[in-house]
Amino acid sequence: MAVYSYALLWAGTFIGVQLTAFEPFTPHWQMFSAMLGANALFYLLIRSRLSERLNDPSMTILQMAAGIILTTAILHYTRELRGAMLSIYFMVMTFGVFALDRRRLLLMAGFVQLCFTLLLIYEWQEMPQQALFSYLFGHWLILLLGLCWFVYVGGYIHNLQLRVREQRARLQEAHDRLSAIAIRDELTGLYNRRHFLERLDEEISLADRNGTSLNLALIDLDHFKKVNDNHGHQAGDEVLHRFARIASQGLRKSDLLARYGGEEFVVLFPHASESACLAALERLRERFADQHYEFAPSLATTLSAGLTRYRRGESAREFAQRADDALYRAKSQGRNRIAADC
Ligand code: GH3
Ligand code: MG
Ligand code: MG
Repeated sequence: MAVYSYALLWAGTFIGVQLTAFEPFTPHWQMFSAMLGANALFYLLIRSRLSERLNDPSMTILQMAAGIILTTAILHYTRELRGAMLSIYFMVMTFGVFALDRRRLLLMAGFVQLCFTLLLIYEWQEMPQQALFSYLFGHWLILLLGLCWFVYVGGYIHNLQLRVREQRARLQEAHDRLSAIAIRDELTGLYNRRHFLERLDEEISLADRNGTSLNLALIDLDHFKKVNDNHGHQAGDEVLHRFARIASQGLRKSDLLARYGGEEFVVLFPHASESACLAALERLRERFADQHYEFAPSLATTLSAGLTRYRRGESAREFAQRADDALYRAKSQGRNRIAADC
């Protein structure tokens, strides 16, 4: 933006010189070469990330100061156009609205006024007889009033922008939180059925494409209804919670554990051998059977599980049905065991 603005300013000055609205000896080439050089330096500092060590990595104040100094130099060569050319200062100030708060904007406005005042003093000393005091003072006062207005409105826009940014961040945060909640089961904190089924489809596609192994276990807590009936629903919830904790701790990060519904859970094992899956499930079964519950010391919990291996090309439904059949076998063989169908 800065480079485009300078190019525009240079073109305007060049045409102004040709039309004799500017002094004919205006050194516009030198002035704009210096500004392009300064901008190249700013650009390099930003691209090389050196500017990140500064308080303001975009160097807005420095860039604006350079623009204000250049504008003041151009104003020195203007003739009748001076009044109109004062608007260039406001172009530079506009850059500040996005990055600077009202206090800093006021500081930059003060710098503009100071530069213009110094220019007027310089010109007054150079040729006092030519300068009309009321004419110069008029420009000075208009600039001052314009800058006051600019700082007020600019500060307002800046605050508005901050508020929009803040709201957007809050919205993003709420969105992230909702996304996290949407894939989790509230009671256990494990992934829910919907998320599991989505991931199952993805893993099946991967297994189909790469020919890698994929195992699925369906786990069901044994006689869970009795836990509720004998110890209360809250005790049942606590058992579900306990299972979720030990299963999360005992499985690998790459294994996908989810609550399938009620007291049923699923584990998807990508890239694992059948024997490794069986060993993991067996460990989980033993740990769950070893649990003690303070609220019901006599309570013993067990689980049954059915394990099956994915067959290339089959549907998710067929795959899950086989795991369910294996689980049924584990139940009918007496519970507290793992049945594999591989
Ligand atoms: P089986 O060994 O054959 O699996 O018997 P079971 O009693 O575990 O199976 P059944 O399907 O008869 O009962 C499951 C019970 O799980 C019934 C339901 O009230 C209970 N349940 C489901 N979800 C929750 C829950 O979120 N909290 C609690 N406390 N109980 C739940
Ligand atoms: Mg069940
Ligand atoms: Mg059950």
